[in-house]
Amino acid sequence: MQNRREESIIVTGGARGIGAEIVKLCSQAGYDVCFTFQQQHDAARRLLELCQTHTGKVVALQADVSDASKRDAVFDAANKLSPLRGLVNNAGITSVIGRFEHVEEATIRHVFEINVMGTMLMSQHAIRYWLQHNQAGNIVNVSSIAAKTGSPNEYVHYAASKAAVESFTVGLAKEVAAQRIRVNAVSPGITRTDIHALSGEPDRATRIARKIPMQRAAEASEIAAAVAWLLSPASSYMTGAIVPVAGGL
Ligand code: NAP
Repeated sequence: MQNRREESIIVTGGARGIGAEIVKLCSQAGYDVCFTFQQQHDAARRLLELCQTHTGKVVALQADVSDASKRDAVFDAANKLSPLRGLVNNAGITSVIGRFEHVEEATIRHVFEINVMGTMLMSQHAIRYWLQHNQAGNIVNVSSIAAKTGSPNEYVHYAASKAAVESFTVGLAKEVAAQRIRVNAVSPGITRTDIHALSGEPDRATRIARKIPMQRAAEASEIAAAVAWLLSPASSYMTGAIVPVAGGL
């Protein structure tokens, strides 16, 4: 069992999938964790129960990343546990798979609102807090290998939103490095989570596995391990990095 670290981390979209594995790993490693979710209270409750025996304390808040009115409450909840040291911008959405000419304008805007604006505004809130309190901090953004492949015939707007997350990561990392704030991103390849059902193809991971050099999709825990490493002192000289965890893609 790890010692309690007396440091807290916010994980957005932490109730299911990759986010839930990040919450588990970090709380086992001794961090206190405040995770957010959008609507699935049951998933959040199950995760809270599961983490009860972990070294770090875990709390959950229903807070859409696009809802500015919830931001203070999320940061306050984390700081109530212990001083905030990390932010994982994991919440992200795709949309129904298809060619770009068929995608509604509202869908494109919504994907950018959650994936790009959500990540940028949560990061801005964290940076303002750390600068104001003269504290070190650590941001890990969850991008996607789609930023590199472009996701043709599936969701190019989603791929473009993740490319925006990556350039934001690189620029912000350089801007705040001297203030002891690190900013990195993990770029997952196709991973077995519910996100594919929401995009209309629950078996997408199995269909695409053949095209991946390692011939299989990732488990969410394999992505979480990279995020936890970037949050930890083991990666202390890394900032502005985009770390692919994509089976060779
Ligand atoms: P997931 O299984 O669909 O889980 C998404 C989580 O985010 C859920 O807990 C959901 O809350 C929450 N969420 C969704 N929209 C939110 C919002 N507006 N505000 C707050 N929370 C929100 O997704 P995942 O596959 O774990 O994906 C996590 C991240 O990895 C995303 O950024 C995604 O783009 C990226 N990624 C995934 C894959 C993949 O193949 N799975 C590949 C590359 C990148 P509820 O539980 O309340 O719905």
